[in-house]
Amino acid sequence: MCKWCSVGLIILSLASCDAAEITPPATRTSATLPSESNLVKVKVFNRVGELIYVESSRVVKNDAQWLTQLGPDTFAIARAKGTEAPFCGTLLDNHKTGVYTCVCCGLPLFSSDSKFNSGTGWPSFFQPIAPENVITHNDSSLGMVRSEILCARCDCHLGHVFDDGPKPTGLRFCVNSESLKFTPSDQTSALADPVAK
Ligand code: FE
Repeated sequence: MCKWCSVGLIILSLASCDAAEITPPATRTSATLPSESNLVKVKVFNRVGELIYVESSRVVKNDAQWLTQLGPDTFAIARAKGTEAPFCGTLLDNHKTGVYTCVCCGLPLFSSDSKFNSGTGWPSFFQPIAPENVITHNDSSLGMVRSEILCARCDCHLGHVFDDGPKPTGLRFCVNSESLKFTPSDQTSALADPVAK
């Protein structure tokens, strides 16, 4: 067996798709804390498929409630800030046209229009579907300084954002498949938010 095949097998064996890497909670500075208000201003789909601003109630549940709703695998990533193994996520190679919503609360987060192949092994986007819908927090875990990205309505852990993305933003939103739900473009009427008139 050649040297590079051996290296590849070692890497594959280390990158099991069965286990999520659990990282400590992100450090949240006062400058980046979300509003203490129960309302957040975000964009949601109305009944005719338009993205409109609404004031939506924050979605707050305890861990037991999230675990019941999501199951252990998704909970480990979306609520306990885990990271799915690279090249294992179900949405990595999804090339369909549509919308990616929060797996926890259904808030629209990303569009297929901004998805690109970053080669990192995780679904990657150069911008959120609306800037208000994705918030960032300083994350100094694992000896690194990163910007964690979360759903603005429920604090679902999505992943991290980096400044090595493509044009037009130069950003790379690196997201766990487990934190997202994909809806094809011909079914987005199902995403109409109750608070959108
Ligand atoms: Fe959410």
